[in-house]
Amino acid sequence: MSLSHGRSYLAIPGPSVVPDRVLRAMHRAAPNIYEGELPDMMPGLLTDLKALARTDGQVAIYIANGHGAWEAALANVLSPGDRVLVLATGRFGEGWAGVARGLGADVEILDFGKRATIDIARVEEALAADPDRRIRAVLTVQVDTATSVRNDLARVRAALDAADHPALLMADCIACLGCDRFEMDAWGVDVMVTASQKGLMTPPGLGLVYFNARAERVRDGAACVTPYWDWRPRTAPADFYQYFNGTAPTHHVYGLRAALDMIAEEGLEAIWDRHATLARAVWAAFDVWGSEGPLELNIAEPGLRSHAVTAVRTGGDIGGRLRRWTETEGGLTLGIGLGMVEKSDPAFGGFFRIGHMGHVNAHMLLGALAVIDAGLKALGVPHGRGALDAAAEVCAGA
Ligand SMILES: *Cc1c(COP(=O)(O)O)cnc(C)c1O
Repeated sequence: MSLSHGRSYLAIPGPSVVPDRVLRAMHRAAPNIYEGELPDMMPGLLTDLKALARTDGQVAIYIANGHGAWEAALANVLSPGDRVLVLATGRFGEGWAGVARGLGADVEILDFGKRATIDIARVEEALAADPDRRIRAVLTVQVDTATSVRNDLARVRAALDAADHPALLMADCIACLGCDRFEMDAWGVDVMVTASQKGLMTPPGLGLVYFNARAERVRDGAACVTPYWDWRPRTAPADFYQYFNGTAPTHHVYGLRAALDMIAEEGLEAIWDRHATLARAVWAAFDVWGSEGPLELNIAEPGLRSHAVTAVRTGGDIGGRLRRWTETEGGLTLGIGLGMVEKSDPAFGGFFRIGHMGHVNAHMLLGALAVIDAGLKALGVPHGRGALDAAAEVCAGA
């Protein structure tokens, strides 16, 4: 007998849960791409995407995943040999650095480890050590999905300003746009990348690159740019096809439209609050479980934790066994630990992650926590009692 039959919850940190409304919007015959509803949707879609990032800048849409958005953003601002400073707080910062290196950039990585945020003093040192202003861009990740740390982008901007350094500030918000607060213009972010399949609740397939006027000026001298990745025709199209440099991702556009409607109806501040409360419920449960036993949140300081994803350390193969149990016995799929140790390392099973981004509510999260609680009991993993009570108290007080 298994208790997994029923509606399952994919709580890996992306792709996230796709709302029925988004799926219904996508379930249609192929639309005309030359005139009518689909081309007419574009101006409103772009307006809403800009509001989501709190920017008056531009946004280019690519048929791509997050890796494509990484490359698109860099190609528009770099030339081979340009220096790039990467502030890495987990696997995804390193991944973006790899793309910059692949484009021929001279990449310096400041690695802050797997359990900490950016140390601004080290950033200040690196900027001070660049008197000729050779660093073209500073790359960082708002939420590193592997470690679940949330970095303070405004502090990085303040360091750049204090050093009077002209490098572009480029941020990866793929994990957390529409979950954790993000204010592109107020925080001084020049380029931001995101993708459709996490907080935007739409299947993987759209990569978004936001940029401001400063970045647009840097684009003039960027030798890495190629026709497909060029953000210019996409943001100033003479014809509808130029938005996507070819056939539009027709059904994704309908899906994203529905997701943006849902976001507008709930309101961005309310969405940020919902994610914050659900995240606090998750943390409260782990505080209790971890009080007697091996479970531990990867990021100790609550103020540095994302509201979109939570990374957990368990030691042994507890993470692996628990994931298997919750999936086969409870209908809950948790995320693997990513970037902590290699997959071949026996310690790989000592980690897991919970995605709580996008279309998630109290009954889903409290249900997920209850299934984890059952799994700990079934597997005989030592844990403190009363975690579900603690999580419910958080939701009750919201
Ligand atoms: C998911 C994710 C990516 C990679 O996106 P893909 O669509 O898998 O290419 C990059 N950065 C962050 C922070 C992510 O969460």
